[in-house]
Amino acid sequence: MKKRIAIFPGSFDPFTKGHEDIAIRGSQIFDELIIGIGHNSKKQRYFSVEETAQSIREIFAAYPNLKVEVYEGLTIAFAKKHDANFILRGLRNTTDFEYENSIAEANKQIYPDLETVFLITSAKYAHISSTIIREMHKYGQNLEGFMPYKLT
Ligand code: ADP
Repeated sequence: MKKRIAIFPGSFDPFTKGHEDIAIRGSQIFDELIIGIGHNSKKQRYFSVEETAQSIREIFAAYPNLKVEVYEGLTIAFAKKHDANFILRGLRNTTDFEYENSIAEANKQIYPDLETVFLITSAKYAHISSTIIREMHKYGQNLEGFMPYKLT
């Protein structure tokens, strides 16, 4: 049987406990899971892409089937490059659903062999978003309950 390779793409600005939860559960489903930090070098991020990638690598150092990579350009091109047959995404609510539904449909049309798989967020992390964390960070709030690593 073909190896089940999945990518878990996102901006991860920053990577949250909600993302960590999806990645751990995904690593139990797929033979190989590649966390792809989508980065557009023309767009400004709040947290640096290098620090984010390094922190995620450290979190998952003990997971042999989980890798972290930064990519530019189309997510489906990144998937193809890794010979992935699945895209993993997390769903928190109906807003996520509406958005994800259209992306998954478009991707399927372009690359029919690529299946998008959704995991429903664990309830305890459903309220966490990168946007809220950035906002809290701006005002010096403690982020311990929201992020799986410490910011330098
Ligand atoms: P994007 O900018 O591509 O939407 P994000 O970094 O915001 O990327 O999120 C990446 C993926 O993680 C998306 O599928 C998103 O729905 C999911 N996600 C975001 N926050 C959470 C959370 N708290 N719990 C589970 N999944 C989440």
